[in-house]
Amino acid sequence: MASVEKPAICGICPGGCGIVATVDEGKLVGVKGATGTPFGSLCVRGKAALEVLYSPDRLESPLIRVGEKGEGEFRKVSWDEALDFVAEKMRKIKEEYGARALVSHSGRGAFEHSLSEVNGGKDMVASKLLRGFGSPNSASVGSLCFVSFGILAPMTTFGLSGLSLVPDIERSKTIVVWGANPITDSPPFMFQRIVAAQKNGARIIAIDHMRSDIANRADQWVAVRSGSDGALALGILNVIISEELYDKDFVANWTVGFPELREYVREFTPEKVEKLTWVPRESVIQLAREIATTKQVSLRTYTGLEYSNSGVQNIRAVFLIWALTGQLDVPGGVSITPPLPPLKDTADFSEADGILPIGAREYPLYYELTNTAQFMEFPKAVLKGDPYPVKGLLINGASTLTSYPQPEILEEAYRNLEFMVVIDRFMTKDALYADVVLPATTYFEISSYQRYPGYLRLREKVVEPVGEARNDLLIFAQLAQRLGIGHLYPQSEEELLTRTFAHAPELLQQLKENPLGVRLPAAEPEYRKWERGLLRPDGKPGFNTPSGKVEILSSLLAKHGYEPLPVYVDPLEGPLQNPALFGRYPLILNTGARIMSSFRSQHLNIPKLLKLQKRPEALLNSQDAQQRGISDGDRIVVSTRRGKVTFWARVGEKVLPGAVEVNVGGGGPLQNRAWRKSNTNDLTDFYNRDPISGFPVFKALLCEIEKA
Ligand code: SF4
Repeated sequence: MASVEKPAICGICPGGCGIVATVDEGKLVGVKGATGTPFGSLCVRGKAALEVLYSPDRLESPLIRVGEKGEGEFRKVSWDEALDFVAEKMRKIKEEYGARALVSHSGRGAFEHSLSEVNGGKDMVASKLLRGFGSPNSASVGSLCFVSFGILAPMTTFGLSGLSLVPDIERSKTIVVWGANPITDSPPFMFQRIVAAQKNGARIIAIDHMRSDIANRADQWVAVRSGSDGALALGILNVIISEELYDKDFVANWTVGFPELREYVREFTPEKVEKLTWVPRESVIQLAREIATTKQVSLRTYTGLEYSNSGVQNIRAVFLIWALTGQLDVPGGVSITPPLPPLKDTADFSEADGILPIGAREYPLYYELTNTAQFMEFPKAVLKGDPYPVKGLLINGASTLTSYPQPEILEEAYRNLEFMVVIDRFMTKDALYADVVLPATTYFEISSYQRYPGYLRLREKVVEPVGEARNDLLIFAQLAQRLGIGHLYPQSEEELLTRTFAHAPELLQQLKENPLGVRLPAAEPEYRKWERGLLRPDGKPGFNTPSGKVEILSSLLAKHGYEPLPVYVDPLEGPLQNPALFGRYPLILNTGARIMSSFRSQHLNIPKLLKLQKRPEALLNSQDAQQRGISDGDRIVVSTRRGKVTFWARVGEKVLPGAVEVNVGGGGPLQNRAWRKSNTNDLTDFYNRDPISGFPVFKALLCEIEKA
């Protein structure tokens, strides 16, 4: 049979890029980015789709562990045996310790739209299977990613989700990209829009600790000491307020806490900010004046500012620059775009009566706004029974042992569990500790749907699943069935669609007739929505905060005993707060900037992607390298007071003197030797956290480097 080309959606990540897939005798043999259709694109990871899909490392059948935990010895079993075993173990733990003794953790591999929408809730990623089973302990990668930027900071300030704050790129005169590198976004649509805007005359300012890809293209790179962005934001606010460049009408009518902020930012003089942030005082003043007076200045920020000792507050301070300068929901500023409503009411996953999840006591605002467990508290529950004993864990689409700090702490917890199950596409380090491993499909192997802003499309299965791999959603559905809660999940891909579009069967029909998707009716852009009651469920003017205004002084933060102003805390493990340690570890360590060829710890076993970067690198300034006798390409050891990890030196001017950026993702069992041996999180700190979110301080630590 001749090969056929068909329009498809890339199945490597949830980005949903439109591609053209070539299929020959049921096998995917080629991919290319679709042209002339909305959201067509193909990133380097997408280009390696064949190698990912048909990797010899793919998990192809259910496994039950026969060796010791961590050894990696399993026997193949049938799906029925595996699922029966999991259900039996879960029921046993529930009988002996109560359902709360079971915890789930969902990761980036669980972002597929239909799975997220079936889970629903404030944290769209966390699986709600356990909630249906009576445990409040669904957790997700939100325990260390996105929730500060996407929920805690914007909700406490504007009463909005961070995803509602959208830069109006096409109408901007200046675009500020702060702590983000949109070229590594999945999908990279924002990057494409920024590049197009720059060609059309927009000025790009990149604020980042490193000369990232976007900083390289930017008209101005503002190099900031990692972890001190909050001080820079407060310094900018100081100039804006003292020079009276703020929007007086907006401040008077739509904010609470301005007098307190004016008082607080007085101490953040440009001179002090230069000492704290390494940004020259003149640049602080210029940035403030440019943002306040240009108008039509948009902001692109993301998760980069989350990982410092005042991450949530730093992001709030940045948001306030845009609010106070009248650039919220105006053309060319930061638009307020309510998130897409779910296509249907999410399933009724009942709450576990009166039992709080782990982490709710330590991070009450996190719990109030996400309704999930904070996984950073998981080891304490397993190892100390605090707040109550936890005995079982279900992980799907996550690799916690390569992404959480000091992995030995989680490893000890995993060794002490009575039962653990992992659902994934590849054998992760977590899976080595599991009692049962269940093989899941890539998104090339499933049928579903994909939502885009103003656009909807069905995802059609491109090829049959490899081996016995199954759709993640159906694995949950089949497990739910065995636990007596099968009604919570659609039991087939067809049922998924009929349930999702139950209220709009004609739309489903339209989608089936239009494989390239359907454009949804677009409303005319409306600005200053707060004036017309478009931001509050009660339809009254104002913001959806307790006061109805932009809360510079946050009542939600105050309610939980946090400082209500966006206060700055200088990195606790930093030169100013801990000079003695700085004497031994004189370099600022930043971890976690994304690289193009991997997706966090994924794909470091894929030959085509490894060719792009074979080894984990540490970026250091040529001045620091010279002082230590290190040349570009040398094998080096990065040490913190927690551990030592080997990297390869990338010497140059991408980071400032005194700063180091190291790649993350290493430590997985399938990776090549260089990456496998370099788990950056052996350097990071499990206990040094933002007190509001519980997020680890990944980006403001101290280290030293020497030649290996
Ligand atoms: S961003 Fe994701 S969906 Fe888009 S091409 Fe890359 S891997 Fe595929």
